[in-house]
Amino acid sequence: MDGPAIELRGLGHRYNGDPVLRDLDLTIEHGEIFGFLGHNGAGKTTTVNILTTLIEPTSGRAAVNGHDVVAERSLVTADIGYLPSEVRMYPHMTGAENLTFFAELSGVSNPKRAAAETLEYLGCADLADRRLGTFSTGMRQRIGIAQAIVHRPDVLFLDEPTAGLDPVGIRQLRETIIRLNRDLGMTVFMNTHQLSEVAKVCTTIGVLSRGELIYKDSMEETTRRFPNETSLEDIYVRMEGVPT
Ligand code: ADP
Repeated sequence: MDGPAIELRGLGHRYNGDPVLRDLDLTIEHGEIFGFLGHNGAGKTTTVNILTTLIEPTSGRAAVNGHDVVAERSLVTADIGYLPSEVRMYPHMTGAENLTFFAELSGVSNPKRAAAETLEYLGCADLADRRLGTFSTGMRQRIGIAQAIVHRPDVLFLDEPTAGLDPVGIRQLRETIIRLNRDLGMTVFMNTHQLSEVAKVCTTIGVLSRGELIYKDSMEETTRRFPNETSLEDIYVRMEGVPT
């Protein structure tokens, strides 16, 4: 791996001429769990869509493991996994069939075995023979994570992963993220609104406001710098300049 896990340099994006990302500079080192905070419409999904090669930036550059997301797209896609905010899946397929299909797409040597091992690792072997059309939100999300990690990527992107989950699902997700990071060494980049989760899981946070990165620091330093704030929410509101 050449270079940091994620690097943005002067990254900008426009939709139909309207700027939604402005001159973003951001470095995320290997092994971090990065929480990307920001209001709806701040540009978080656009940033992740660029990093996961789904769209090309209109200015600046972005790299994963030192690979440029435009010039070295296939090297980037081999190194990343992505759980989008809405997981699309074929309802007639079983969990195992779906995962084997994704393992084949990502070119792993034994797709069937990789699928079974991934379900086992995530503690959801019980989903292997069930049809996706019968899944609850929590089950869909677990299969979504399984899809994202079936090829054991270095960097995992999660877009609003707690949306629609109940407290049990949120706790399972948190434990999964921590295991993937600690046991498999995955760097995690997570878009989220769930401030309490950020405080429990993330090692570093960034705040995006109207397409500009207005804050980035370690979780430790953030809580040290704002010693009188009672919660991350207060810090966030203060940084966003929202009147209280
Ligand atoms: P976030 O994930 O922080 O909610 P997004 O990246 O989804 O923010 O959106 C940033 C801005 O870009 C919003 O104003 C949104 O309406 C706009 N936008 C997102 N996708 C498109 C698109 N495909 N075409 C035009 N505008 C878009």
